[in-house]
Formats: sequence, structure tokens, C-alpha cells
Amino acid sequence: MRAAVLHAQRDLRIETVALPAMGPNDVEVRIEAGGICGSDLHYYFDGGFGAIRIREPLVLGHEISGTVVRAGAEVRRVQPGQRVAVNPSLACGRCRYCQEGKQIHCLDGRFYGSAMRMPHVQGGFREALVCNEAQAVPVSAATTAAQAAFGEPFAVCLHAVRRAGSLLGKRVLITGSGPIGALTAVAARLAGAVEIVITDVAEAPLAAARRMGADAAINVTDPAALSRYAADKGYFDVVFEASGNGKALLGALPVVRPMGSVVIIGIGEEVPIPISVPVVKEIELRGTFRFHDEFALSVELISAGKVDLMPLVSATIPLSDAREAFELAADRSRAMKVQLAFG
Ligand code: ZN
Repeated sequence: MRAAVLHAQRDLRIETVALPAMGPNDVEVRIEAGGICGSDLHYYFDGGFGAIRIREPLVLGHEISGTVVRAGAEVRRVQPGQRVAVNPSLACGRCRYCQEGKQIHCLDGRFYGSAMRMPHVQGGFREALVCNEAQAVPVSAATTAAQAAFGEPFAVCLHAVRRAGSLLGKRVLITGSGPIGALTAVAARLAGAVEIVITDVAEAPLAAARRMGADAAINVTDPAALSRYAADKGYFDVVFEASGNGKALLGALPVVRPMGSVVIIGIGEEVPIPISVPVVKEIELRGTFRFHDEFALSVELISAGKVDLMPLVSATIPLSDAREAFELAADRSRAMKVQLAFG
């Protein structure tokens, strides 16, 4: 079976890897679609992000879907032949945080295609994988593999929206119009936001966000572009920071209303925050990381056709051309979501 294996920065090879042994609660999934995420790009172009560095060969990929081809003896939830979205996250279920229902903070969690732990957890850009049946979430017969591969990134955005609290009737600013920013716009709309403004420094992603339902998409190459929203101490009830850019976070503080909140999704450069601003305006800064039960919700919404995320797909490229796919995915003038096709 072939897989996209990253050996070092910009050293991505298509190699033959073995399929791990299957336990009684495991299923084998023939992978059909895999979305390239910003973190995959960080591994590819930078060898990692922050303190997380690639230290041994790593199969990338965690936005994946496919069809179950084999099921262990005790598997009950899925059957061979069913198309599934694969949840790349598996919490241990035993640690103190899992016991408290806070699986995102599991002390022994595994996440596909991640160099956080050693040995690294190998990822999903491979022709087949073996996972626990709990990770294989069935989709409707009408759902394509490409649609199902949005289960993971959309779950990230649904969790971010949950972290914000109720959005019903709220005015929302999203900084960063990449796939996560655009998907957050979709999630915020579902949650009842009355106005959604999104920003970026590139035109193509802004146009994509408009297509996904943002009410306004503003190019903030000119830092004064948001100044009209700073009158009367701010305009937005909630900001989602989805760019990972420190300037975007700092630029959002003046336009948040007193007692509003800033939900930080993006991880990028470190940024010093002028702490008097959130103090005096009583702004809440909230982190949001991955997802847990939102994965099932994400798959349900996609599977039932409640959201159409396919306009975000810029290109579908075979696994054999994975390097070209990564290069394209990094070009924000040409690509939003690039998906790999397998088999
Ligand atoms: Zn745990």
C-alpha cells in the first residue's frame, strides 16, 4: 500500500508502507479522499510548527474518508461497504480528563499525522488504514468521499463556535479567510449569527468566503480597513481568529465590543497582547483546540446535506502527485482546499 511519507522539510516521498495488524474492534478503511490542512503544509514546508518538529518519517494527513473493507470480529457500528469519515482523533478514555468528559485534553490522546508525540502518530494519506470502529463514522449513500473528508476541518469550526457561546443574533468577525475561516463562517451562520464579516490580506480567499456566505469580506492589507468598526468602543460581539497571524489578533481588539469575546483558533507566531485592552473592555480571550463530539455533528450535517462545503475544493490530485498538491495548496492565489485522491 502506498502512502505520502514526509522524511524532512520538503522531502515528501510516495512509499510502500505496511498495514498494521487489526484488533477485534478495528476496521480497515480504503482511503478515497484526503484534504491537505494548514498543519500538513507546516510540516512539509517548515518541518513542523512551534516546538513540534518532525523527528522521524511521518505519514501526513488527518482530513480523510473512505470505505470500510474489513471489520474485526466485535465491530458493531459499521460494516464492510459503508463509506465513512475517519475521525483522526482517538482519546484514551481512561485518563482524568477523559473521565471528566474533556477528551480534547486527554493525557494519552493520538491524532493522525502528528509529530507531537514520539513515536509520531502516522497519518491518513495512505491507500488504506486500520482504525478503531469508533473513529469510522458512516455517511449517507449520497455523500461523496470528497464531502466526507470535510468532517474533520468542519468539526474544528463547530467546536470553535461552541467555545464562543450562543451566536444567535450576534455580529461576528472572522480574521483569516483560509479554509478554517470560511468553514467558521458556515458554522457561525448555522449557529444564528446575524452578520458575518471576514478579513484576509489576499483577494482569492476573500472571494471564496463570500461564496460560503460571509456578508462582507474585507482586505486588511490596509490596516485602516477595519477602523469604521472601532467607533463607540467596537462593533463585533465575537471575533474568531483563524489566521494564526499576530497582526490579525491585535487588529481585532479595537473592534470587539465591551464584554465581547475573541476565540483563537489559529496557532502561528507568538504575539504580545496589550493586556489593558481586554482588561478595560472586559473582553474574554478563549482558546479552541480540535474537537470531540463535534466530529459526529459535522459528519451528520454534511451527510444530511445541511451544509455544502464543496465550493471550497480547488483541486483534486492523485496521491502519486502529492508534492504538486502540497505546492498548490500553499498558493493562496490559486487554492483553498486541495484534496488528494487515492487508488
Ligand atoms: Zn485520556
